[in-house]
Amino acid sequence: MTIQEKLVVSLNYKLSDHKTGEKIEETSTENPMVFLYGVGAIIPEFEENIYGKKVGDSFEFVIKSENAYGTADENQVAMIPLEVFHDENGNFNAEHFPVGALIPMSDNEGNNLRGRVVEVTPELIKMDFNHPLAGTDLHFIGEVLAIREASQDEIDHGHVHGEHGHHH
Ligand SMILES: [Zn+2]
Repeated sequence: MTIQEKLVVSLNYKLSDHKTGEKIEETSTENPMVFLYGVGAIIPEFEENIYGKKVGDSFEFVIKSENAYGTADENQVAMIPLEVFHDENGNFNAEHFPVGALIPMSDNEGNNLRGRVVEVTPELIKMDFNHPLAGTDLHFIGEVLAIREASQDEIDHGHVHGEHGHHH
């Protein structure tokens, strides 16, 4: 069996920043990445790179930022008045807003999004709404652990059920 549409793929990978070599994340055999191939659940170019591989095959490739999480957009960095972050007593608790923290926010239309704290001043928080990996070229190295047929339910739902998948 080789990787193609409507198969459930388990794999291990290590993701690094291609420019700096810094490790971003890594799966393990106990907690592999498990996904339904070909439904747009993961980065399209990632899928293209593992197409046709079989269990035990390894892979290594780089995906440019523009084909992954996009380039960082300066317009996605906002200066937000500190009052917005006051608690119910009108106080600002700096402990809750360390630099680098991801803070749940909502935009004018009520959509949920997360902003990363870049800087806190006495007047405002500078917050970056770009994806944390925007502007990063992704270097993947890994191995295919398992491939199986998807159930009809999984195909209908567009995601994996059972271990490492959705439970519902
Ligand atoms: Zn489901």
